Amino acid sequence: MAFIGHRCACGHNDLNHTKSDTGKQICTAKAGASCGKSCKSQSESEVMPTFDRRGLRIKRVIAPGDGLETESGSPVVRTCACDACQALYEQLAPAA
Ligand SMILES: [Zn+2]
Ligand SMILES: [Zn+2]
Ligand SMILES: [Zn+2]
Repeated sequence: MAFIGHRCACGHNDLNHTKSDTGKQICTAKAGASCGKSCKSQSESEVMPTFDRRGLRIKRVIAPGDGLETESGSPVVRTCACDACQALYEQLAPAA
């Protein structure tokens, strides 16, 4: 499984970030708390590989705006659905 997103200057990606009440991007990589580095998201979209529970790499790319398959109990995180991510996804996914 892979997803399309943006890497942040803190070294984490979209899925480690959430919007605070004030609308600011905050990193939650450290057990829900900020990783401590300052966040500045990059504009470039890139494909980020993810791994399943057994450490196997899965080829499927998650559509922009779709949620990751999560273990039960964890909140559903959605991937970025901006124009750049959509465009990259369309390049990767052959038209059915
Ligand atoms: Zn971070
Ligand atoms: Zn960050
Ligand atoms: Zn995006």
